[in-house]
Amino acid sequence: MSTNGIKGLLMDEPLIFEKSSEGRTGICPSEFDVPPADAKALIPQNLIRETIEGFPDVAEIDIARHYTRLSQWNFGLDTGFYPLGSCTMKYNPKVNETVARFPGFTMLHPYEPEEFTQGALELMYELETYLAEISGLDAVTLQPSAGAHGELCGLLMIAAYFKDKGRPRTKIIIPDTAHGTNPASSHLAGFKVVPVKSEGRGVLSVEAIRDVMDEDTAGLMLTNPNTIGLFERNIREIAKIVHKKGGFVYCDGANLNALMGIIKLGDLGVDVVQFNLHKTFSTPHGGGGPGSGPVGVKKILEPFLPIPRIKKSRKKYSLVYDSPKAIGRLKAFYGNFSIMVRAYSYIRRMGPDGLKKASETAILNANYIKEKLRDVFNLAYDQPCMHEAVFSDKNQTGYGVSTMDMAKRLIDYGYHPPTVYFPLVVHGAIMIEPTETETKETMDRFIEVMRKIAEEARENPQLLKDSPTKTKVGRVDETRAAREPVLRWRKK
Ligand SMILES: *Cc1c(COP(=O)(O)O)cnc(C)c1O
Repeated sequence: MSTNGIKGLLMDEPLIFEKSSEGRTGICPSEFDVPPADAKALIPQNLIRETIEGFPDVAEIDIARHYTRLSQWNFGLDTGFYPLGSCTMKYNPKVNETVARFPGFTMLHPYEPEEFTQGALELMYELETYLAEISGLDAVTLQPSAGAHGELCGLLMIAAYFKDKGRPRTKIIIPDTAHGTNPASSHLAGFKVVPVKSEGRGVLSVEAIRDVMDEDTAGLMLTNPNTIGLFERNIREIAKIVHKKGGFVYCDGANLNALMGIIKLGDLGVDVVQFNLHKTFSTPHGGGGPGSGPVGVKKILEPFLPIPRIKKSRKKYSLVYDSPKAIGRLKAFYGNFSIMVRAYSYIRRMGPDGLKKASETAILNANYIKEKLRDVFNLAYDQPCMHEAVFSDKNQTGYGVSTMDMAKRLIDYGYHPPTVYFPLVVHGAIMIEPTETETKETMDRFIEVMRKIAEEARENPQLLKDSPTKTKVGRVDETRAAREPVLRWRKK
């Protein structure tokens, strides 16, 4: 049984404060060759403090070791398989990182005059064009800095459209399978959420939408493929119903990794979509960002796109602020530019055929895992999936074993657990997204371990209840961690 190597020289590490020894210092600055100035004369009094309570006094080598050791406890895509569903944790080719670090990009200042930033503007303009092409939409803004931010942007544009028409609408329809950000963004944009249930096979029915769509509803917000990894196959007909009542179809594009080059959302009747560049288009997205959530729209919503827009006239690119119906700005300057560079580099490197192959392989890999595990884990929806497969713990609950126990046990075998307990519509969900970048051997080892865990659940459930055992910290009390967080170190 391959355990992916959890053993070895991983040092324990106290908090940096606990390594402190009063008066020790990491660096000794040279003698000044200029007369010292009085800080009190230069800095406003209210910003001056005599000491920093608890500030650690540590030698340089201890600082280096402290952070290096902590970094070695980290688990990332460059360390191992990371099958989180609904996140698209794919390997991000290093060439895109290299390009994003070109000094010509990193040394740019946002206030530099346009004649010096033509290259950056060209890159942004072309990225907009590529995203429009991939999604089948007419215009794109790169400004939002995450998927949820893009959702808000799209919804604000829809709201602005109806306000401009002099007939504001108040509601948005959202299926029960939606990612939590969808209702949250709708609420922030001032809409009331109308929930709809997906039918028995996990997708939206035409009837369900027909029943709730009316002329006070601004539109429908759906995800395709949806969050249970299934293609919303009634989308064309559903879009017709929404359009007939004057509404818009918003598609959460976080799962675009399953569609690139295969289908264009615009052709399916989608009017607005956000792209999660940090999921589909090659940006590491650990640690909370930065990300980028561009938004594409059909012509009818183009006047409402945030400012500035990038325009090309003859061979010159410029930023245009004159756009009377625009919803304004969502972000300082132009968005998270370095993420755009990675996405641009990724798209150029892959080309249309490469992007298509990525999506096809992502789908193939998810179905491979689904088929290899279906006899031991309950399949929430027994049908071909897109880029992710959703199981549940239904077959294991009889042994007193839950999804959480199996996820923790995976860590003992050296695998990052998949997404668990999401989507909420599947009780005890285990959501696996291998992505296109994993080899068959990696997936086979993961499958072997998952099957082993199913066997352990039958034969020795306590083993799972006690896991993880090979980590520095065992099972933590997650509820207490959330309710009574300890955010400040105090001297004992
Ligand atoms: C990740 C995700 C989002 C949110 O994107 P962020 O960049 O994390 O804000 C929204 N919807 C779905 C389906 C997602 O998977």
